[in-house]
Amino acid sequence: MERLRFAPSPTGHLHIGGLRTALYNYLYAKKNNGAFILRIEDTDLERSEQIYTESILEALLWCGLKWDEIYYQSQRTYIYQAYIDNMLKNGTAYKCYCTKERLDELKRDQIKKGENPHYDGFCKNIKENLDKPYVVRINLPQKDVSFNDSVHGELKFSSKEFDDFILQRSDGSFMYNFTNVVDDIEMNITHVIRGDDHITNTAKQLYIYSVLNAKAPQFAHIPMILGPDKKRLSKRHGAQSVIEYKQIGFLPASLLNYLARLGWSHGDEEIFTMDKLLEYFDLEGLNKSPAVFDHKKLLWLNGYFIRNTQTKDLYGLSFEFLSQNCKNQDKEYVEKAIEVMKPRVETLVDLAQSIEFFCSRPEIYDEKGTRKYTNQNTKAILVASIDKIKKVEFTHDNFQMLVNDLATEFGEKVVNVAQGIRIALSGKSAGPGLSEMIEILGISESIDRIKLFIE
Ligand code: GLU
Repeated sequence: MERLRFAPSPTGHLHIGGLRTALYNYLYAKKNNGAFILRIEDTDLERSEQIYTESILEALLWCGLKWDEIYYQSQRTYIYQAYIDNMLKNGTAYKCYCTKERLDELKRDQIKKGENPHYDGFCKNIKENLDKPYVVRINLPQKDVSFNDSVHGELKFSSKEFDDFILQRSDGSFMYNFTNVVDDIEMNITHVIRGDDHITNTAKQLYIYSVLNAKAPQFAHIPMILGPDKKRLSKRHGAQSVIEYKQIGFLPASLLNYLARLGWSHGDEEIFTMDKLLEYFDLEGLNKSPAVFDHKKLLWLNGYFIRNTQTKDLYGLSFEFLSQNCKNQDKEYVEKAIEVMKPRVETLVDLAQSIEFFCSRPEIYDEKGTRKYTNQNTKAILVASIDKIKKVEFTHDNFQMLVNDLATEFGEKVVNVAQGIRIALSGKSAGPGLSEMIEILGISESIDRIKLFIE
């Protein structure tokens, strides 16, 4: 059975890149009826924080990436220690007692000789246990290692590129490369999809697999996400954490669709629901070159998903963004407002703001619009409109006629008549059709608003 994992370190909130990694692992596991495992890599006690763990879990759940199993590395130290003890016993690892002073001096000498700094194996042959602080190092096999990456193809590394690197620090804590391998073995992980910034780690990890006589999983190292300046995507580029995207009114569906396509493709298709992703996702479709993050495209997709989400679902999704006035309104009434506004917005926050005038009377009127569209005729036109509105039936054509009649009657431009009514009703000079607006607001509320405006 396929078993994949997402293994975040809780040293910050989940970002776009992390969510993409989680998504790919999730998709591959689920499409093969396998297991998606969440492993919180919280061994670095200084940098790991509980709030980040909680925030990562919240972000994954918000996106619907539900895990089948969850593990915390901080609760598994006895397992790592057992591996270390065994390795010390069979000689695939050894205790290194070298002091910082010795290592610094070694480094200086090596640099002077033009060599890359590396540990020289000084403690490899110390057999007895000394009563001194020590780290545990791997006894690196002198051989090449290679693997066939699903994205990059065959990758080969020589032991000359590495030294006897540290597995366990002198304070007893374990290094990332070591716990990562032990857990991938213990959890029977079959595939690892992660960023290609980990390729050097993978080489080191292959040496660990080798001395543990264990089979490495299939690796797929995905290219990084870049900002528009082609540098690695970061906060500088305005990239936000997943939770922030939630807070500014993104739908998980659009975020997931966007990220799925950012580094993976399936023909020319752009729109993927989760069901479609589960059907089509494959490792062959992973791109080799880095993807550039495009916020505008993400916004466009979000607008697309909002337009295509059922209005009754949008009510629930946007509820937290609604003003108290809208929250207090009848659900059906708010849904009608959402229905007319949803084709015109790109985020749920926009949506909530755009329907606000349906829930509360305007307190201010768009200044520029008022200057542009109103004049000495406006008051009389609006007074006359009240009578006509009472009588009209709500069709777009009838309404257009009403506006045209008023324009002829008062010798005014059609646009000024229509915009005058619009501003009186909504306070704004842009929005849905007048007839749609009045139909939702209702005749008496519309008339009250017009009266309020001309008072
Ligand atoms: N904890 C590592 C990270 O967050 C995991 C990398 C991996 O997937 O192996 O980068």
